Parts: sequence; structure tokens; C-alpha cells
Amino acid sequence: MIKESQFDAHNANQKYTVDSGDYFIRYIPAGATFRFVDLEGNQAADTLFYNAHHPAERYSATDTIREQGNVYLTAGSQLRSNENQVMLEIVADTCGRHDTLGGACATESNTVRYDLEKRCMHACRDSWMLAIAEHPEFDLDKRDISHNINFFMNVPVTSAGGLTFEDGISAPGKYVEMKAHMDLIVLISNCPQLNNPCNGYNPTPIEVLVWDTHH
Ligand SMILES: [Zn+2]
Repeated sequence: MIKESQFDAHNANQKYTVDSGDYFIRYIPAGATFRFVDLEGNQAADTLFYNAHHPAERYSATDTIREQGNVYLTAGSQLRSNENQVMLEIVADTCGRHDTLGGACATESNTVRYDLEKRCMHACRDSWMLAIAEHPEFDLDKRDISHNINFFMNVPVTSAGGLTFEDGISAPGKYVEMKAHMDLIVLISNCPQLNNPCNGYNPTPIEVLVWDTHH
């Protein structure tokens, strides 16, 4: 569902650019609204969310899909935790649909899906592991790297129930915006994948804007 934001980008309290192949990890407090912008189009932002006070509570694709009765995420979707609490809600979306079924790329899946020689190519799982290693203050470890959301990524379900990775439905400047319902840790890998069309074979930066009402 296409829904425009009520916020003005110029009034954001915080603004970050995340290059493809890089990670982003920050605390986002309850009540804050934040936006991911697909700056150049057809980019996948592989994202995990945690309860900042209790990171064992984390985003759950199964709870989210079951409760909303739909496999795609868009404006109005409530993103739920493995304790079935609403962690955040998508409040605006100019892309229209986001994937939470396809999972993140890893060096292992690259070798299985594409070629053994892809093993040394950079992958989202590596970026997440680097993020938690370089930021011990978030108290995350390997077991916390779990099922994610692929913002802007197009993974349609076929009539036979299959999953396909298709060329993007996003475009330059499209965005998705969420409101935090609890204090969150947000962990993004801006996907470096070159072997399927999730990034249009050309990984590009995204932007993160935060409107924190406490400021
Ligand atoms: Zn990836």
C-alpha cells in the first residue's frame, strides 16, 4: 500500500548514509519515527530489530506474518517480536511491498545458489557479524543473527507457492518509514549481493533519517 509520510526530511534529527556492503547499528527510542530511503533504487536493506533492553526479544517473521495474515510488509504492517509484541509499525511506504521470506545472503548460500568461487564475495551475514563484533556495547552475539526483513526487495510468491528473487519494484528516492513501539536496536546490512537482481546488479547506498521526539 502506497502511503506518503507526514514528516519533512529537512526536520530529521539524525541523518546517515549507509554504503552498500556497510552496516548500520543504532539505538532508536520508543516513539521515534525513522525512514530508510532507497537513494538510487533497487537496493535491498537487510534489517534486524531487537528490544534494546532484552535483545533475546527480536523481530519475528513468523509472528508478524501470522498476525497480519499476509506475507508482504507495507504501510500498516505491525512488526512483531518472537514474544508476539508489536515492536514497530510501518507508517509510510512509497515502495509498496517489502520481503521477509527470502532471508539474507551469506557466503554459504552464495556457494550453494551460484558457484563455489563466490565463497569469498562479501555478504550480509558478514556485515552483521562485523557490526556486532565492532559494537560490543549492544550485547549481541552470533545467536542473535536471525531471520530478517529485506526492505525494498522484491520476492514474489508464485501461484504454486514458490519464491523468486525478481527485479526490484523500488526506484530512486522511494522510502519506507516506521514508528518504534519499544526501545530498539536497529541493525542493517546494506546488501552487497551481485549475483541476483535484488540490488539491480549494482549495490547502492541507502539513507536513514530519524525523527526523535525527545530531542
Ligand atoms: Zn545481502
